[in-house]
Amino acid sequence: MPTLRPGAILDPGLETQPEQLRRAFQGARLAATVAHAYAHAPRVRRMLDAAGLRPEEVRGLSDLARIPVTRKDDLPRLQAEEPPFGGLAAASIEELARVFVSPGPIHDPQGQATDFWRFRHALAAAGFRRSDVVLVSASYHLTPLGFMLDGAARSIGCTVIPGGVGQTELQARVAAHVGATGYLGTPSFLLSLLQKAREAGAPLRLETAFVVAEMLPESLRADIEAFGVRVLQGYGTADLGCLAYECTEKGGWHLHPEAIVEVLDLETGAAAPPGQPGEVVATVFDESYPLLRLAIGDLATFAPHAPCPCGRTAPKLAGLLGRVGDAVKVKGMFVRGGQVEAVAKRFPEVKRVQAVVTREAQQDHLEIVAEVADPADPGNLAARLAEALREEIKIRGEVRLVPAGTLAPDAKRIEDRRVWK
Ligand SMILES: [Zn+2]
Repeated sequence: MPTLRPGAILDPGLETQPEQLRRAFQGARLAATVAHAYAHAPRVRRMLDAAGLRPEEVRGLSDLARIPVTRKDDLPRLQAEEPPFGGLAAASIEELARVFVSPGPIHDPQGQATDFWRFRHALAAAGFRRSDVVLVSASYHLTPLGFMLDGAARSIGCTVIPGGVGQTELQARVAAHVGATGYLGTPSFLLSLLQKAREAGAPLRLETAFVVAEMLPESLRADIEAFGVRVLQGYGTADLGCLAYECTEKGGWHLHPEAIVEVLDLETGAAAPPGQPGEVVATVFDESYPLLRLAIGDLATFAPHAPCPCGRTAPKLAGLLGRVGDAVKVKGMFVRGGQVEAVAKRFPEVKRVQAVVTREAQQDHLEIVAEVADPADPGNLAARLAEALREEIKIRGEVRLVPAGTLAPDAKRIEDRRVWK
């Protein structure tokens, strides 16, 4: 087994502060953020007014639970009612750096801050450092992941190759030619790159990778590490940025010091104790998009609180357990059952539809099973439906036409059959 690159703490003042100081720091940031959002984000003002909560009453973390929760699933509706950002942004559109749209559709603002989504701490934890040449294999088009990772790498002094998605051979060739030392993107694509480059006789010299947007099962981590590449993962969303990240000790993801992450019991809404699953609810302090208690729809548990040998003091999320609602992540993108059904409804020939997600050779596969009167497909429906779905959900699925009555009466709109080892 090759020696893997060591990790580093980017900001010891933030990442290693004692628990009491950590809570005081977060409480002060929360109070300032609530006051700012109340003044500049119209929906926040209405929400707090409706809850009978004056912004000055929020003085610290102990007041957090009084702030109403906003559901991420509601963002498409809120943004449609009150364009462009549902009244939740505290900056006008001309004050923003970029605007993205992720499937949902959810419009995501990017403010002017350097490393707006705060991924730099996670990159340092995975060993990224100044003078690394980093391949960013994530989309820069409409969805924000490419710029998220790019901005973080640039902020710590790395040189970036904006690889985007797809074109595996080309990306591998460029990374080999330029001597890339770091990789940012999804873990399954990283493994294909490493394999393709080796097959082509031009192996990559990658030393470290930070991966997001997909599960990183230990089997896949081992496959990647066998190439001598350190690979750590992080957790975040298009709206909230980085919320937690692994250190080289692994065993969970340290919460980001500049985000408040709660895990709330699904029935009571109270904080779930370590080991008990609940929904992830997060608060970030950004001036342009100060999201307060956004319920993401992911289920997670906290790891038992124990000092980590890396020196970071923030608690760890033990991992994700799935989704609260009707959405699963496929090839790094959220796919909602309702979205698939809405696209299928545009084709009168389709009676019912089910999306099925499976996993083969460390890659996700999406199959759309569509019930139709004539599965012989005289009108080339399968191809048209596949194209319409690709437009809507941004990933390619295979359409299989079946006779009416094939799907079970209680079949879920989206079924996740992946097994993680
Ligand atoms: Zn640690």
